[in-house]
Amino acid sequence: MRYRSRLVVDLDILSSNLDKLKALAPSNEIMAMVKANAYGHGAVPIVRFACQNLGLKEFGLATLGEAIYLRDELPELDFEAYVFSDVQIALQECKEIYLNRRILPVLSNIEDLSFFLADKDFRHFPLILKFNTGMNRLGIKMDDLDHVANLLKKFGRKTIDHLMSHFACASQSMFKIKMNQKQLENFKQLKSELRARGIQVEKSSFSNSGAIEQKAGLEESHIRPGLMLYGPSSLTLPNRKGVWSGQMISRLETYIIQTFEVGPGEPIGYGATPCPRNGVVAIVALGYGDGIINRYRGAKIRHNGHVGEIYGRVNMDMAQVFFEQDAVCDLRAGDIMTIWDHDQESFLELAESIDTIPYEIFCQLTPRVPRVYRLE
Ligand SMILES: *Cc1c(COP(=O)(O)O)cnc(C)c1O
Repeated sequence: MRYRSRLVVDLDILSSNLDKLKALAPSNEIMAMVKANAYGHGAVPIVRFACQNLGLKEFGLATLGEAIYLRDELPELDFEAYVFSDVQIALQECKEIYLNRRILPVLSNIEDLSFFLADKDFRHFPLILKFNTGMNRLGIKMDDLDHVANLLKKFGRKTIDHLMSHFACASQSMFKIKMNQKQLENFKQLKSELRARGIQVEKSSFSNSGAIEQKAGLEESHIRPGLMLYGPSSLTLPNRKGVWSGQMISRLETYIIQTFEVGPGEPIGYGATPCPRNGVVAIVALGYGDGIINRYRGAKIRHNGHVGEIYGRVNMDMAQVFFEQDAVCDLRAGDIMTIWDHDQESFLELAESIDTIPYEIFCQLTPRVPRVYRLE
C-alpha cells in the first residue's frame, strides 16, 4: 500500500446512475460533461468506460487541453469531444488541432463565429453555437441574432448543427424562479426566430443536472448532465425532494495513522488548538495536499458507529479527527476511515456543513489521491 488514502470509483454505480438518468429523460441524447478531469474522478477511465460499456459517444470539456488529453490517451475510441469555454479557435496552432483531431469548438461569441465561418478549412465542420439567454457569462447575445443570420447567409450555411444555452439558476426551481422561466422563454424564441430566418437547427441542448432533475429543457434533442452522473443532486434545499436517486460513484478513503487520548484544553497540531473536553484524537492521512483544505474543519466523520469531527488546523498531509471518549475502543491505527461513501444524502450534508458545493469538493481533490477503479 503505497498510498494510504484513495478515491475508489465504482464504475457499476456510474452505469446505474446512467440508467436512472435515462428513466428521467428517456428520449434525450446524452452529452456527458467530463470537464475538470471528470469532476475529479479521472476523465480517461470514465470516458473509456462510458464509451465502451455504456454507449455514450459525446463528451463535454472546458478546455482544448482537456480534449487533446482525451484524444491522446484514448486514440482507439470513437467519440465526439466538445470544448465549451477555453476555445481559442482563432490561434493558428489551435485551429489545426480542432481540424486534425476532430475536436468540436462551441462558439460563444461573434468574433469566433466570424473567424470560423470565414475559414475555408472549417467549411464542413459542425457549427455549434451557444447563446446567452440570460446567464450573462459566455454566449452570443440574443440581440445579435440578425448579425448571426447574416453571417450564416454570407458564408452559405443554412444549418446550426447544435444550438445551446446554459442556465444560471438550475439548482433552484425551474418553475418558480423568474430567471429560469425567462431563459426557457428566450431559448424558445431564439429557435423560432432562427427558423423564421430560414436557419435549420439540427440538434439542441439546454439542461444541465439541476434542470434535468426537474425535467426542464427535455424538449431539446440533447441533455448535458455533469454532476448527477457522479452521484449528487445539484438542487439546493428545499427543491431537492429526492427526485434524483443517484448514488455516489466514489468513496474517499483514508487510514488512521495513530490515535491518542486527550484531556480538556490539551493542544493538538499546528496552532495548538485546545481540545474541548476528554476524548480521542485520530490522525488521518489526508490534508490540504490532498485537497482536504481547512474548510473541512468541523466536518463530521463517522467511524464504527461514532461521529467525530475534523478538529484544529488541517495539515498538508494529515488531519486530526476528534471523537468522544467512548470511541476509544473502536478507533485503531490502521483502520480505514471513509470521508464519504456511496450515500448521496450524507455527501450533500458534508458539503453543506462546510459551506461548499459537491462540485468544489470533487474538483479540489489533488493528484496525490490515487483514483482506483472497481467494476464487478
Ligand atoms: C458543466 C456544464 C454542464 C454540466 O453541469 P452540471 O451542473 O454539472 O450538470 C452543462 N453545460 C455546460 C455548458 C457546462 O459548462
